Amino acid sequence: MARLVALVQARELPSGMLVVGPHGVGKGLLIRAFLQRVACTEAQTGMVPCGNCNGCRGMLAGSHPEILEVVPEEPGKEILIERIRAVIEFLSLSHSGPARLVFIEPAEAMTINAANALLKILEEPPQGAMIVLAAARPASLPPTIRSRCQRLRIPVPDPDQVHGWLLPLAGEGIAVSEALAASLNRPLGARALLEDPAAAENWHQDRETLELLLRSASPFPVVEHLARRDLASWLPRLQRLLASAQQFLATGAWDDFGRLFPRDALERFSLQRGARELARLFQESLQWQRELPSSLNPQLRCESIVLRFWRHGD
Ligand SMILES: [Zn+2]
Repeated sequence: MARLVALVQARELPSGMLVVGPHGVGKGLLIRAFLQRVACTEAQTGMVPCGNCNGCRGMLAGSHPEILEVVPEEPGKEILIERIRAVIEFLSLSHSGPARLVFIEPAEAMTINAANALLKILEEPPQGAMIVLAAARPASLPPTIRSRCQRLRIPVPDPDQVHGWLLPLAGEGIAVSEALAASLNRPLGARALLEDPAAAENWHQDRETLELLLRSASPFPVVEHLARRDLASWLPRLQRLLASAQQFLATGAWDDFGRLFPRDALERFSLQRGARELARLFQESLQWQRELPSSLNPQLRCESIVLRFWRHGD
């Protein structure tokens, strides 16, 4: 953050910045705070924007004329080239503040065509243009985009600190440690689980489907169950479970996530598959996640995922 402040103060904003960190670590919050600081006309030194000037108010209301936020039309959908064309047009206009700012999140959601269009503008940015990209999986962005951006990595905060922050939110439904494990140690995800009954219910359903996958003698009940789930939340949890199982085979101990599942079922599942097959399943699950935005029939997708677990080691 100090680095960002220095850039603002020196009026040396990079034309491209790539903010990298896992989901739910607060990239969006940090970037919005940074954009507000840039937009603020009253802030003196340091990072804190005044909150009152026209720049701050416009930013907070989402109506600042020189700041454009680009997100998928629906969560999990792609960002198409038309949106990037609008970005190019936006950046070509003149500005009265320090810069015209564009924030794209998640940058991985851009299609290849959209990314190529963005690359052109990163190669020859109009004067006073700044593009901030947020990505949880920067490796899936074209290397040409990555190399054109200054990179800022957001670290995962210390678990004790996060635990203390979440503790006041814990109620009867779900403990802080479970919320953290279930949200894959993402502080904002854990907060949502503690605060929002729908998020907690989604976790319980996801866990039930994973448990069924561990226990079921046949794939069909699992397919039926999975077809009602949102793969965007379920697949990362599946990956986490596969990682727990791999770690169990390597160390004989269960980690925080593995402990959320019945031990006998998880042990049997891990021993039956073995380390190599678990590693393979893990890799394939990353591919399933990358394919999520494509238009494959959801029912077919669920079937092919679940059936893969009944097709051992070929
Ligand atoms: Zn201000």
